[in-house]
Amino acid sequence: MNKEELVLLGTGIIILGTALAKLIVGYAYDVPALIADGYHGLADAVIDLGGFFVVRASRMENVSGTRLRYFFSFIIAEFLIAAGILVAYEKFEEVPVRSLVPFITTVLVAITILISSLWRQAVAKETGSPVLEAEAMHGYSDVISTFGAMLGSLAPFYGRILSTIGVAIVVLVMIFAGIHIATESVKILVEYLPKDIVEIIKRNVPSGMRIAGIHVEEEGEKPVIYVVLEGTIHPANLKELEEKISKELPQYDVRIVARTPKRKLAIAIDENGNLSKFGEAYAFIIIDESGRRVVENPYRTEEKHRGVRAMRYLMELGVTDVCAKDFGEAVMSVFSGLVKMKKSDDVAECEKRAGFKR
Ligand SMILES: [Zn+2]
Repeated sequence: MNKEELVLLGTGIIILGTALAKLIVGYAYDVPALIADGYHGLADAVIDLGGFFVVRASRMENVSGTRLRYFFSFIIAEFLIAAGILVAYEKFEEVPVRSLVPFITTVLVAITILISSLWRQAVAKETGSPVLEAEAMHGYSDVISTFGAMLGSLAPFYGRILSTIGVAIVVLVMIFAGIHIATESVKILVEYLPKDIVEIIKRNVPSGMRIAGIHVEEEGEKPVIYVVLEGTIHPANLKELEEKISKELPQYDVRIVARTPKRKLAIAIDENGNLSKFGEAYAFIIIDESGRRVVENPYRTEEKHRGVRAMRYLMELGVTDVCAKDFGEAVMSVFSGLVKMKKSDDVAECEKRAGFKR
């Protein structure tokens, strides 16, 4: 299990626990805002745990299967959010039981969610994982939702209006979460790669090579399929393979990159040898077991897609890990799961963290 997976699984379990606490206390003390927020928490747990299985599976199988699984977890989450809004509407008139237990629960839950969001963000910064980055932001919105439940739990002491405001905050956050989830699912459906295409690719890949990942990118007129293979192959045979698969899939632009299972680190640097943003890098320091060398970034002056092109170039060199000051969004979304991207502040730290000695 890598660090990204560990955080997704860990925070998923934490969120599931807080959701159950909200639901149990919410129902026991009749706090509408807390019950609604509990359904919201259940939906979040489904997404987090779904994310864990998808990230894990995407390293092992073809992408189309993982997309479908992600899509299903989105659907379940949408249902739970709808259920939460419905319950909030039904319980609207209820006045919570006079007790401090719901208030204390919401305070503890808010602190727990805040800490788990900070954890996600710290690891997102370290690994460059776009999934974790988005989940960290989501976590902060969950703290706001829990604050709504907190207000609702104080209604028996300070008046029913607090219950109304609390429910309103929770429902608003839920509606935003629902819209976000819906747009994500549509995106995933649009990018969904039909199974027969995966079959065609699988059939053509020579034995002894493993498919490490397949990704579709809408780049030009034709969608581009990136196929990442693991193992050794002669460049001439790679070209041949690319042509063969392209012939069978004329509606796509097929690009194949092969990488060796051995680790190879690339560090993005500027003219002065300091760490640089990825796409703007003047050159890359390439480090592997056999030593280190510097290659210039041939795409640094390109106007468009220079990050994506530079990353593809590095993958052709067999690079498995990349360290830079920052990565562009396109690069992160196209290559996440294919190349390990780490953000850092200086060159020495990149090498140290990757475990390569100077
Ligand atoms: Zn949420």
